[in-house]
Amino acid sequence: MSRAYLVTEKGAAAELVDRDLSEIFGDEESAGEAGSVDLDVLATSINYKDGMALMGKPGIVRRYPLVPGIDVVGRVTASRASAFSVGDVVLLNGDGLGETRHGGLAEHARVRADALLPLPAGLTPEQAAAVGTAGFTSMLAVLALADAGVEPGDGEVLVTGAAGGVGSIAIALLAGREYTVVASSGRAEAEGDYLRRLGAARVIDRSALSEEGGPLQKATWAAAVDSVGSHTLANVLAQTRYGGTVVACGLAQGSDLPTTVLPFILRSVTLTGANSVEAPRALRERAWAALAEELDLELLDSLTTTVAFEDVPAVAERILAGEVRGRTVVTVG
Ligand code: NDP
Repeated sequence: MSRAYLVTEKGAAAELVDRDLSEIFGDEESAGEAGSVDLDVLATSINYKDGMALMGKPGIVRRYPLVPGIDVVGRVTASRASAFSVGDVVLLNGDGLGETRHGGLAEHARVRADALLPLPAGLTPEQAAAVGTAGFTSMLAVLALADAGVEPGDGEVLVTGAAGGVGSIAIALLAGREYTVVASSGRAEAEGDYLRRLGAARVIDRSALSEEGGPLQKATWAAAVDSVGSHTLANVLAQTRYGGTVVACGLAQGSDLPTTVLPFILRSVTLTGANSVEAPRALRERAWAALAEELDLELLDSLTTTVAFEDVPAVAERILAGEVRGRTVVTVG
């Protein structure tokens, strides 16, 4: 038997069920090229996307019934993949988990090995879950900035959605690489000390970015990591300095982008993206190696809240209300 959250139909919130494994995984689709493995789940996490899936919001779950949870850290109990053996501790972010394939919010999981990675040395299962998709995406954004040639001395790097999961870890990673980080948050007052502890040099109120603004504004940012989208991203582009790079990672305000071509044709701004779900294996390995090496584990622990399996629905509601700070780990095993 396995306890699992299960979304049974479109629009329905997830239910906590206790079912036979064959009942849950009996209809699991093909294993992928590299084979599949069964896991005892050790830890997972709750991302914004998981909040949407758990609460029955559209756009995440694409088949029913489905176990949500876009992250999993677990111990292999059976392997049909040559690269993994029983007893290995592994992690997976995205790759359809919790969207088109059963995800991590369960005591057991069956996952494709294609994008599965061994737990990096030095991280506990809970720490790897605390990094999760949010931290992995933050590192993809940091690597995108570095690959675009953004250097620590270039000027201020803005992080929007700063007190959320992607934002919090992006601040810690960028500050660790000695960029000068400015945090934009709707909780600038309540969470200002927290954001500065993570490494923000200064904190601004997100209301300065969230309304419609002019197509070109005072050139301010050398670069930016945006998990908010909509008017916020449009204003960030309008405020980015000549030659700057902006990484779009999320849509907490909205998926629209009401901008003009002016930042691109008059300031040579580059807008790029980060996608954790489809990231190829080599990029996953590069990002996780960098996370294991660079992330300050005390800071990671300080931005992590741990909850019990039964608390998942309550956290889902809070993450959609924008009330969750940093990362939330769910201990399972
Ligand atoms: P969180 O809920 O932890 O963080 C989102 C933050 O955005 C909030 O904490 C809040 O920060 C800010 N925010 C929320 N609502 C609004 C709003 N209406 N206007 C402006 N800011 C708002 O989510 P995650 O960090 O897990 O994810 C952030 C975004 O990134 C989501 O849209 C998610 O879907 C996306 N994402 C994309 C990935 C990818 O592969 N590209 C992977 C992971 C996440 P504050 O209170 O500081 O203002």
